Amino acid sequence: MAFPITRLRRLRQSEPIRSLVRETRLSPESLVYPMFVCPGEGVRNEVRSMPGVFNLSVDEAVREARRAHSLGVLSVILFGLPENKDEVATGAWAENGIVQQAARAIKREVPDLIIMGDVCLCEYMSHGHCGIVRSTHPQSLGAAVASPPAATADYEIVNDATLELLARTSVSLARAGVDIIAPSDMMDGRVGAIRRALDGAGLSNTPILSYAAKFASGFYGPFREAADSTPQFGDRRSYQMDGANLREAMREIELDIEEGADMIMVKPAMPYLDVIAAARQRFDLPLAAYQVSGEYAMIEAAARNHWIDRERVIMESLLSIRRAGASIILTYHALEAARLLA
Ligand SMILES: [Zn+2]
Repeated sequence: MAFPITRLRRLRQSEPIRSLVRETRLSPESLVYPMFVCPGEGVRNEVRSMPGVFNLSVDEAVREARRAHSLGVLSVILFGLPENKDEVATGAWAENGIVQQAARAIKREVPDLIIMGDVCLCEYMSHGHCGIVRSTHPQSLGAAVASPPAATADYEIVNDATLELLARTSVSLARAGVDIIAPSDMMDGRVGAIRRALDGAGLSNTPILSYAAKFASGFYGPFREAADSTPQFGDRRSYQMDGANLREAMREIELDIEEGADMIMVKPAMPYLDVIAAARQRFDLPLAAYQVSGEYAMIEAAARNHWIDRERVIMESLLSIRRAGASIILTYHALEAARLLA
C-alpha cells in the first residue's frame, strides 16, 4: 500500500510519538569513560587537542571516577602515563605502576564502578611502539631513533616475546583491582596468552574485552598527545589493521573469540560503522566500539567555531554507533552524554 494510504510522516508528528517508535536508544550504563592517569597530586592537565579531557593524578582520577558513577556511567577505562619509560615497558606491569595505583584507589573509593584496564605497552616504552622492538640492521636502536628509518623497515616489532609482557601486565592489573582486561596492542595470540596467564594466576573470573579489530588510523592523533605514546620511529601499520579490510576484521574477531575473548571491540567507531554492523550480524558476543580521540576532537573543534550544534552532534554520533550494533561505547563524551540523557 503506497501513498496516499501510507504516510510515514504520521509517526513523526510529535516528540511523544517519535519516542514511542524510536528503534535505538542510548543509556549512560552502556558508556565507558576513558581516563588518563599521571603521577603527582592534584594534577589536572587539559590535553591541548582534546578540550575537556585531562591527564589526572590518582587523587583527581578518583574524583573523576566518582563523578562518572554519580552520572550513571558505570565503567571507566584507564590509561597510564608512567614516571619513566624503558625498552621492556616496566611501568605497565610494575606492582606500583600508575594504573595499578589508580585502580587500587578507585576500587577503594568507588567500589561499584567497573574498572577496565587498557593493556598495551606503547605508553611505557621509550620508543612508543606497542611491542618489543628488535633492530633488523647492524645500527643500534638509539641510532634508529636519531635517524628514522625510511620506507624499508630497519626494525621489527617482535610478536611472541611481547606476549609475555602483555600477560604479565594483565595479571598485575587484575591483582590491583582492574575488573576487565582490555588488550589493545594487536599482537597475534595475545588474547590466548592473557587468558592462560590470568587463569594460571587464579584470576579465571576476570573477563577479557579484546580490541579485536583495531585499525591503523589517523583519528588516533590527539590520543597520542594525551597518553604521550607517539612512536619515535616508523608507524603501527605492521600490527594494527589496514583500514581497507572488512573481511580481515572478521578473521581478527573470530580468532580472538577462539582464544577466549569475552567481549569484542571495533576501533575507531564512526569511520568503521560498517565493520561494527558486520560484526554485530556475525558474532553473538557483547560488542563494543571506541569513539576515538580524533572523533572527539573534530566535534569539539567544529563546535568551538559554532559550525555545529555540539550537544546534538555528540548524541547523533553516539546514536549512530549504537544503531550500527555496538552495545558498549567507549567515549570521551561519556559524562556529557550521561548529563544530556538525564
Ligand atoms: Zn599501544
